[in-house]
Amino acid sequence: MTSPASKIELLRLTQAEWSERLDSPDRARAMARWIFSDEARALAHDDAPDSAAPDSITSTTPLSLSLPASIPAVSHRVLDRWRESLDFHVPRCRSRQRSSDGTIKYALAVGSGANIESVLIPARGRSTLCVSSQVGCTRHCAFCATARLGFRRNLRAEEIVGQFWRARHDAPQSSPLRNIVFMGMGEPLDNLDEVLRAIAILTQQPEPQLSARNITVSTSGVLPGMVRLLSESRVNLALSLNATTDETRRHLMPQTAQWPIGALLDLLRHDAQTNPGRDVFIEMVLFDSVNDSEDDARRLIDLLQGVNARVNLIAHNAFDGSPFRPTTSERLQRFKDIVLNAGIRCLTRVPRGQEIAAACGQLALRHA
Ligand code: SF4
Repeated sequence: MTSPASKIELLRLTQAEWSERLDSPDRARAMARWIFSDEARALAHDDAPDSAAPDSITSTTPLSLSLPASIPAVSHRVLDRWRESLDFHVPRCRSRQRSSDGTIKYALAVGSGANIESVLIPARGRSTLCVSSQVGCTRHCAFCATARLGFRRNLRAEEIVGQFWRARHDAPQSSPLRNIVFMGMGEPLDNLDEVLRAIAILTQQPEPQLSARNITVSTSGVLPGMVRLLSESRVNLALSLNATTDETRRHLMPQTAQWPIGALLDLLRHDAQTNPGRDVFIEMVLFDSVNDSEDDARRLIDLLQGVNARVNLIAHNAFDGSPFRPTTSERLQRFKDIVLNAGIRCLTRVPRGQEIAAACGQLALRHA
């Protein structure tokens, strides 16, 4: 009898690992097709109704699903051999809140009493899922609601993939879920082994077959992790810069102050030479009278010389207890005009799901 501690989670294995265990690449592909099929999805039926998010989260155990008697191309004999050593746990959906703009925020129980959030953002032609990589966060950015939760633990790869497994069927048919952004709870680069494993599973053939070019990892600027991610993966990178001087950055993001802005941007310049196809985003959350002046915009232009990146401007999404005020629309537009006039691509990110606290920097299990 295999001990529970040595059991393997279905959502954790790559195709190469399945192939080795099932002694056949064909069986491995069949297993992947089944795991991400409607049939497997139908086994998970404990979702809270859309319209009735519970007032409190009481249960924290993930949902355990049973393997079927057979899977096409995987025989009874092979499945029976493995049945006792496999576990199929998916995050239990504790609440699903829908915003008037179509955004859906999930509160998910992932085991050991831990809850996380992820956000499905439908748009024309495609949907994006914002996933969490940690329970809480290792960093303590001064403007972020998640930081108030402290850090509890890293998520395992199967818990990251499980967020996709849960949400993909909620995407409108006309806007399938094809994009993943690691911008939920947590600093992904502080959990890089598991994040890279999750990316390997999400991009594998035949399922779920996402493109690495449709996956973006966002970081608060953890330089060693950035070096590794850029060398080991072809996914896109979003650097949450938020300041044009190291002093202001230290104030906003004290936990990443050991890596100066110059060193972060030098790495991006170097990567642009070796991986010209990668999309890089510079995220600037703008706070009233902190980092939204015309001087800030001009300093940003100087800093980004030789960096092939698009700037995303986001007005701070305020939450109860935030020490900052969002920039005004006039100051944001002026900032954007200055950056655009310098020939740098620059967009204003429209917040989604604000009324359900699902926008950037607002994930804090508010209903938990
Ligand atoms: S902004 Fe990101 S890295 Fe900073 S505390 Fe929030 S979740 Fe963590």
